[in-house]
Amino acid sequence: MEYVLNTENLCKQYSKYLAVDNVSLHIKRGEIYGFIGKNGAGKTTFMKMICGLAFPTSGEIELFGAKGNAINRHRTRIGNLIEEPGIFPNLSGINNLKCKCYALGIYRKGYAEHLIEMVGLKDAGKKKARKYSLGMRQRLGIAMALAGEPDLLILDEPINGLDPQGIAEVRDMLLKLKTEKNMTIMISSHILEELYKIADTFGIINNGKLVQELSREELSNKCNDYIEIIVNDSAKACTNIEKLGFNDYSVMEDGSIHIYKELERLGEINRELVLSGCTVNSIKVVQENLENYFLNLTGGVQNA
Ligand code: ADP
Repeated sequence: MEYVLNTENLCKQYSKYLAVDNVSLHIKRGEIYGFIGKNGAGKTTFMKMICGLAFPTSGEIELFGAKGNAINRHRTRIGNLIEEPGIFPNLSGINNLKCKCYALGIYRKGYAEHLIEMVGLKDAGKKKARKYSLGMRQRLGIAMALAGEPDLLILDEPINGLDPQGIAEVRDMLLKLKTEKNMTIMISSHILEELYKIADTFGIINNGKLVQELSREELSNKCNDYIEIIVNDSAKACTNIEKLGFNDYSVMEDGSIHIYKELERLGEINRELVLSGCTVNSIKVVQENLENYFLNLTGGVQNA
C-alpha cells in the first residue's frame, strides 16, 4: 500500500497548550481521508503543519515518501484551502484564479475558466469576489487550491457556509477528482455524516489526540444497531449475558450495557436477566447513527 502522508507522534504546542498531541496518521494514495473533530480539536493546526504553515514542536512528517527537510520540495504537490481563502475582493473570481495560476507559473489559456467551471462558478466568474456569498468564496477557494492539479488536496472545513445544494456539488466534485484524476484528498469537518458520504478512511481527533483511525467498512460496522440494557446490577447482568454466549458487548459509563450482535435474541436475554434476579429497567434495540457514535467517542465513553 502506497502512502502519500504518514505522521509519527506529531505535536504542536502553543505555550503550555498541546493543540496536536502525538498524532500518527496515515493517508493512502488516491483515497479521500475524512478528518473529523469538534471545533478546537486540532484539525487546522495539524493541516497547517502538513502544508508548512505551522512548525511542529516534535514528531515526524513523511510526505510522498520523503522525510525531514526533503519534504519541503514535495509541499508544492499540495493544494490547500485552510481557514479563509486568500482572495482579492476587488478582482473577479476568474482574475483571482488567474493570479493564483500565474503565481504557480501556469499560463495555459482557458485553464482558469476550466477551474471555475469545475466548482460551479461559471456564471459568476466575472463578478467581483467581494460580491460573492460565503459559499461562493469557499468554492473559489477550492478552485484556487486545485490550480496546478495537486497530488494531495487538503481542505479544511470546505463545506462550512454552503447550502445543501452547494454541499452536494462540492461532494460530487471531490468524488470526481478522486476517480478521474486519482487525487488524494484530506478533508476536515465537524459533521461526520457529511464526511461519511465521501470518505474512504476516517481519522477522529479529540483534544489534539487521534482517538481512532478506521476504514469506512469498520466505521459502518461500528454504527450498526445494538441492544441497550439498563439494569440495577450491571456486573451481574454481564455474567448472565456471557452465559448466553455473548461476548461482543460494552458497558458504558452510565452502566448501560450494549450488545452488538444477534439482536433478535432480545426476548431471551430479558428472560435470562429477570430469572437471575436482575431488575431490568429498560431493554431495547437502539439505532446507532454516525453522529451518536462520534459524540460517544469524543465524549469519553468507555468500552468494556
Ligand atoms: P480545529 O481546526 O479542530 O477547530 P484548531 O487547530 O484551530 O482546531 O485549534 C486547536 C486548539 O489550538 C484550539 O484550542 C485553539 O485555540 C488552539 N490554537 C490554534 N492556533 C493557535 C495559536 N496560533 N496560538 C495559540 N493557540 C492556538
